[in-house]
Amino acid sequence: MSRWKLEGRVALVTGASGGLGAHFAKVLAEAGAEVIVGARRQEALADVAGSIVAAGGKCSAIALDVSDMASISAATPALERVDILVNNAGIVRDGPALSHGEADWDAVIDTNLKGMFLMSQAAARAMEARQKGGSIINIASILGLRQAGGVVSYAVSKSGAIQMTKTLALEWARLGIRVNALAPGYLETELNADFWASEAGKAMIRRIPQRRLGNLQELDGPLLLLASDLSSYMTGSVIEVDGGHLVSTL
Ligand code: NDP
Repeated sequence: MSRWKLEGRVALVTGASGGLGAHFAKVLAEAGAEVIVGARRQEALADVAGSIVAAGGKCSAIALDVSDMASISAATPALERVDILVNNAGIVRDGPALSHGEADWDAVIDTNLKGMFLMSQAAARAMEARQKGGSIINIASILGLRQAGGVVSYAVSKSGAIQMTKTLALEWARLGIRVNALAPGYLETELNADFWASEAGKAMIRRIPQRRLGNLQELDGPLLLLASDLSSYMTGSVIEVDGGHLVSTL
C-alpha cells in the first residue's frame, strides 16, 4: 500500500459544506479515508457527503458549529474515532480596522481561532485515550504570515492559527499527535471568480510571482502529505502554497 494512502483512517473535515473543506473531504476520501464532514448548513453538507458516497467513497455528515462548545460536545462520538482532523472552518469579515465592529471581531476569532483550538483539544483528548496518535491539519493563510489592509481580525486569527499549530505540536508530540498547518495563498473558487476578473483583482494577481491564482487541486499534495504517514517526522510545520506570494519583491 502506498504510504500516502489513508485506508483504515477516519478523517473529520470542519467547514466542509463548500469551498476548500468540501474539496479536502473529497480528496481524503479518494485516498481511502472514511470521511466525516461537519458544518452548520446541513443541506449543503448532505450534498457533499452524497457526492463522495456516489463516487465510491465513505462519508457521513454531522451538524457542527466550531464556535460553540455544546455543538463540539455533541460531536464527541465522531471525534472519538478521528485519526485526522482538518480544521478548515473559517470566516472573514472585511473592512477598515477603524470601523471593524466588536461583533465581527468576535465572530472571526470565535470561528477561526477558538473553534480551531476547541476542535483540536477535543480530538487530541480522544487520540490520547486511544493511544494511536493522529494528524491535525490547521488551515491558516498567507495572511497569517504577512499583512494586507482591511482584514484585521482575519489576519490576526490566521497568525494565531500558526502559533497554535506550533504550540500544540510541541505539547502533543509525546502523544504521537502531529500538528501542522497549510497556509494557502490566493485561490480561485466559484465564489470569488468575479472579483479576480475585476481590475482590482487583476492588480492583485500581478503581485504574485507566478502571476496567477492557485486552484484547489494544488492543495491536494500538501494535504495528503500532512494527513498521511509520508509526513511522520513533520510536526509544527507550516506549508505555504501561494505561487511565491510570500517571497514577492519589496
Ligand atoms: P467558504 O466560505 O467557501 O467556506 C467556509 C466553510 O466554513 C463553510 O463550509 C462554512 O459552512 C464553514 N463554517 C463557517 N463557520 C463555521 C462554524 N462556526 N462552524 C462550522 N463550520 C463553519 O471558505 P473557503 O473554502 O474559501 O475557506 C476555507 C478555509 O480556507 C478557511 O479557513 C479560510 O480562511 C481558508 N483559506 C481560504 C483561502 C481562499 O482563497 N479561499 C485562502 C487561504 C485560506 P457553514 O456555513 O455550513 O457552517
